[in-house]
Amino acid sequence: MNSKMQQVWDTLNTIPDPEIPVITVVELGVVRAVDFVEDFLQITITPTYSGCPAMKQFEDDIVSELNKVGFSDVRIKTNFDPAWTTDWMSDEAREKLRVYGIAPPERGSEDKGVLFLSGPKKVACPQCRSEDTKLISQFGSTACKALYSCNACKETFDYFKCI
Ligand SMILES: [Zn+2]
Repeated sequence: MNSKMQQVWDTLNTIPDPEIPVITVVELGVVRAVDFVEDFLQITITPTYSGCPAMKQFEDDIVSELNKVGFSDVRIKTNFDPAWTTDWMSDEAREKLRVYGIAPPERGSEDKGVLFLSGPKKVACPQCRSEDTKLISQFGSTACKALYSCNACKETFDYFKCI
């Protein structure tokens, strides 16, 4: 990797998710590719799900942070295929989510059950790790999260439900 490319990735690695400031857009798995195309820099991103209101913020942050370190012409290319999956989220990012108080998404396709309202699944409490939790609302602090409460420690918490 050449030094300019490294600088781009280093910069992207400092940009937090607008909704979850403890993890970066790279850890979330949203940034798919960095390419120098003729005289501009192209960043390929895959939104966590179409219609996620945070995506515009992602794009603005990526462009403005790269502008600050000297990349004046940054263009965002949005790629929906293949679709983003929580499997692209690193284990480190999952652990950061849990410490932050958000139950990380489960690996695999079972997560779709939560999104499509086919019934709540077992979600472990990020505070005490009890699985004795219940769904309060399909929509937590943002559309990407569902609100749960823990019967063991009585805390409420967000579950990151993007597929
Ligand atoms: Zn708990």
